[in-house]
Amino acid sequence: MRIYVSFAPEGSAVAAFAARELERYLSRMLRGEGEVRIALAADESDPCGPERFRAELTPSGGELRGNCTRALLLGVYELLRRLGCRFLGPGAENERVPRIEAAALALRFEHNARFPHRGVCIEGATSREDVLNFIDWLPKAGFNSFFFQFQVPYVFYARWYEHRLNPSLSPEPFSMEDAWRLTAEAEAELRRRGLLLHKVGHGWTSAALGYEAASWDEAEPLSDELRPLAAQVNGRRELFLRIPLDTNLCLSNPDAAAHFVDLVAGYAEAHPNVDYLHVWLADEYNNVCECERCRETTPSDQYVALLNAIDARLTADGLRTKLVFLLYQELLWPPKRERLRNPGRFVLMFAPISRGFDRSYEVGGSGEIPPYVRNHITLPVNLAENLRFLRGWQEIFDGDSFVYDYPLGRAHYGDFGYMHIARVIFEDVGKLRELGLRGYVSCQELRAGMPNFLPDYVMGRALMDEGAGFDEIANEYFQAAYGERWRDAKVFLAALSDCQVCDYLNGKGPRTNPEAAAKLARAEELCAAFAPGGDGPFWERLAYHARYVCLLARAMRALAEGDAARGREEYARLLEYLRETEPRVQPDLDVYRVIEVTEKYTGLNAPKL
Ligand SMILES: [Zn+2]
Repeated sequence: MRIYVSFAPEGSAVAAFAARELERYLSRMLRGEGEVRIALAADESDPCGPERFRAELTPSGGELRGNCTRALLLGVYELLRRLGCRFLGPGAENERVPRIEAAALALRFEHNARFPHRGVCIEGATSREDVLNFIDWLPKAGFNSFFFQFQVPYVFYARWYEHRLNPSLSPEPFSMEDAWRLTAEAEAELRRRGLLLHKVGHGWTSAALGYEAASWDEAEPLSDELRPLAAQVNGRRELFLRIPLDTNLCLSNPDAAAHFVDLVAGYAEAHPNVDYLHVWLADEYNNVCECERCRETTPSDQYVALLNAIDARLTADGLRTKLVFLLYQELLWPPKRERLRNPGRFVLMFAPISRGFDRSYEVGGSGEIPPYVRNHITLPVNLAENLRFLRGWQEIFDGDSFVYDYPLGRAHYGDFGYMHIARVIFEDVGKLRELGLRGYVSCQELRAGMPNFLPDYVMGRALMDEGAGFDEIANEYFQAAYGERWRDAKVFLAALSDCQVCDYLNGKGPRTNPEAAAKLARAEELCAAFAPGGDGPFWERLAYHARYVCLLARAMRALAEGDAARGREEYARLLEYLRETEPRVQPDLDVYRVIEVTEKYTGLNAPKL
């Protein structure tokens, strides 16, 4: 079969890439003689809105039109999906590409993306290949954006190459220059696909204090020259817990505010390729300035004033960069007086980091926002409380927005079957409109594929396609991943998900917990009895998973039964297994992150290295 794919507009790198992708897959798929001609056409006058595409094809070819070049690429992958391709995770080994007859090409469909914001943010420990494979997978799974935290996402790469928390692998040297190089390469891959780039987030406050902040690492004390710019906490202007990234500024100090504005505006000027620039204050909470002048106002009022000053600079420079502001920790409390003067510049990002994952968003929550007490806040514990704050901000800002959420950032390790967390994601996405939010960015490990990548697959499909039901998506996934006996795999993983302890693993609730212990005992039993129902990488991964969950559940059960000593012993066994086997499962399981989360949040610990 001869396959010709043309594209317009001529000279568009993204349209050219979409055409090459279509040609590459179809030439693997189509059987028989003859020729197929397909024309891809994008209307570049509308590059920014939610993507729309439409296909009209016969067995000899036809046309695929999109409202922008990125829509063309998404349309190409949707066409391939309708022809039976399955992109089950990052990397070629997770793809299923069927052989088809030309008659199968006779398809007509039209699609409007359900939400404009559909993205993933880097977390965990990642290699160059992890990042590149994930970026390649994004549009295949329906996503359109990627978020690199910090000016350079050094820490995520360094955790992997230095094999932090895994002494059984020899560390490789990794420098800031290496991080810049890998980031530039990855950003070029995003551009090639027309994907939207989000950047930075935390790190502006520490940069203003003279630190190159690309991690949560501790650092040397403040210089005397810059000390007056730092927040005064408990009577002292120091690094908060010795960590620059967690240290706020004294925003009533005009030098501190001006410095902050200069840094952000200067960055936007130097990086016009960044579509969404995230302007956040320090991480952590109860670390804001307590000086007399700062006390006259609120952190959110100071924040909005900063955002207005940055917007004025960008407007003067003629820059269209969108600024993303964050509702998180003290900034959950809406400002009392200040208002964003140019709402079109801004995107509201709601980050309910303290929510639980036992269930989906509770939309109905009403009630009062508690009074703001400087440096004595407690985070809202449930979603209903989180949502009150969102409503408060929505009363004063009705511009663009999305949720920034963490189902695959920590809690997923407590769902051993991934069916529960996938369903929570699906249901959350279904409630976004009602919450007045226009999309979802997932802050997550990129290696979230143990036992499989179903949660991200569901997220991408649900954000893209209003009509797809959970079971339809899940069945499509299981059939392609596990073959003939896919139902066995699904039944096994659904049973494991019935034992989910997402919130317990995430440190919520008492550590001695009979209910969690019972679920963990059941998960252990299920895993001990597991027998593979087929061959291939997905079944092999499932066999590994059963062993890993057995060890994890055993350690957590000891903790939940109140036997810390036995918990430590069992945990040491888990660590030994994970560390030794990590090379076998590197693309699917982030061992660094499992250990970091179980030690920092769950309360498991092993003898120090
Ligand atoms: Zn102050």
